[in-house]
Amino acid sequence: MSTSRKIQAKPVLIVKEESSDRGKNAQLNSIRAARAISEVMKSSLGPKGMDKMLVTNFGDVLITNDGRTMLQEMDLQHPAARMMVDVAKTIDNEVGDGTTSSVVLAGELLGKAEQLIKKGVHPAVIVDGYEKAAEKALETLEKIAIPVSLRNIDELKKIAATSLSSKIIANLKEPLSEIIVSAALSVKKEIAGENVVDLDDVMVEKRLGESLESTSLISGVIINKEILHPAMPRRVEKAKIALLDKALDIEKANFDSKLQIDSPEQIEDFIKQEDAVIGRLVDKIATTGANVLILQEDLNKLAYYLLAEKGILAVRRVQQTILKKVAKATGGHIISNLDVLTEKDLGFAEVVEQRTIGDAKMLFIEDCKNPHSVAILIRGANKRVVDEAERSIHDALCVVRDVFREQKIVAGGGAPEIETARAVRKFALTLDGKEQLAAVSFADALEIVPATLSENAGLNSIDILPELRSIHEKGEVWAGVNVFEGKIQDMKALEVFEPLSVKKQIIISATEAAVMILKVDELVSTKKPIRREEEPKGERAKEEKRRERMQQFTSMM
Ligand code: ADP
Ligand code: MG
Repeated sequence: MSTSRKIQAKPVLIVKEESSDRGKNAQLNSIRAARAISEVMKSSLGPKGMDKMLVTNFGDVLITNDGRTMLQEMDLQHPAARMMVDVAKTIDNEVGDGTTSSVVLAGELLGKAEQLIKKGVHPAVIVDGYEKAAEKALETLEKIAIPVSLRNIDELKKIAATSLSSKIIANLKEPLSEIIVSAALSVKKEIAGENVVDLDDVMVEKRLGESLESTSLISGVIINKEILHPAMPRRVEKAKIALLDKALDIEKANFDSKLQIDSPEQIEDFIKQEDAVIGRLVDKIATTGANVLILQEDLNKLAYYLLAEKGILAVRRVQQTILKKVAKATGGHIISNLDVLTEKDLGFAEVVEQRTIGDAKMLFIEDCKNPHSVAILIRGANKRVVDEAERSIHDALCVVRDVFREQKIVAGGGAPEIETARAVRKFALTLDGKEQLAAVSFADALEIVPATLSENAGLNSIDILPELRSIHEKGEVWAGVNVFEGKIQDMKALEVFEPLSVKKQIIISATEAAVMILKVDELVSTKKPIRREEEPKGERAKEEKRRERMQQFTSMM
């Protein structure tokens, strides 16, 4: 596996406190610490999972069902426990969903390893068996995956809805998936023959007030700025938008230049000249036909007045990132010098309007033609709901993006885990002795997903698992747990769909984490801070890193 290759030599786990721990003892302690985390996460898996209320030292309360958030907020001491948090971070960066599953699977892999270690199997043998089994599991997932067409909007919505169905806001999964899929389709672009959805192009804004049902998609941009001049229009239809990344003002003289003024007339002259310059700039804007002006920097007082007189709506001090979004959404060009502004540089939107949302005024640039940047405005009665909605929408946007990347899905509800476990068990027979034991344990561990989904739905996994196995044995690849009705059903027919990439990443991340923890046989204390590998920044860097990891992994297969 990619990372396990890099750490061929046995890693020494370094802890900050004055402590040390060696050999089997260190191993078992690490396993226990990591498992404690996965035990906490288990009860939140799936649509019937419970939520967690996290309370900080200061008494702040956070209610969530989001795996990554739980892990991030937990106060963890043991380094192996913190490694589990890293698993969650990795999977979140790579595919954006599947956090709980990966941590639960990692915990189960470690639990099974603990039993093997106690029986005298060496951790290195377990690691080898696990890695081979993981490859088989991935191969099986590829085999059973269902291709999707990006034109099949209904299917895309089902994928978003499955991700939302295990969230607190699941009751609104239908309208929200509609918004999410429309947003992804709007910003989709083709790069080197691949469909790319850059999540940076989907702006997510949240405002308290009204209810979650009022969450909406804006085919354009929302700017958090107010129109300052009372005489300016508050709404412009058929907006033609000029975008300027400089100030609309007289350029300030630099320190070296001197201005010799000897009489009051000269001052007056000077002011007149300045006014004339501003007047000319405003005229220039008006002659291009622009009726909206968006500035990154400041706006001269007189310019305000003159723009208002001409019926031009203007906002200033808009962040550069937002200005770029406006350009993307409206098809306009950002210019730095008004002298070169032409009609062709103007962006277009059906409506630009200032609205009062909650207790703030915001400018909506809406109904743009083919906007390559859109916005989702989340509304909700309280901060906790709005924050959890933001996290959930993010996950759902991620899974839709994942399917654009790799156009394959699997049905969920534990069906793929039972099917891969079956394949791994068969494969285990081809391995020798103790490695075979490890591969069988890997297969057993995979079944933790359907087992936990069942338990969380109030079913007994001891009854469900054997039944599921025998149905799969008869060739029903998609038999899984319908957690709402408490029975085994075909998950494909129920349209519970998840991206193949998420399912693969769960196995990759969980195996990596388990292997990493199993390879540690010594904990040594250190007082120096530990240098960490820099995380790649930006969407492109992340994408490259993701590809590199995937390639490394598949080259092992
Ligand atoms: P994760 O953080 O791993 O995504 P979730 O709490 O979102 O954890 O649960 C995901 C699991 O729930 C997946 O195994 C998925 O197949 C399952 N799931 C989602 N919707 C349903 C459903 N309607 N019926 C059964 N299982 C479902
Ligand atoms: Mg999920």
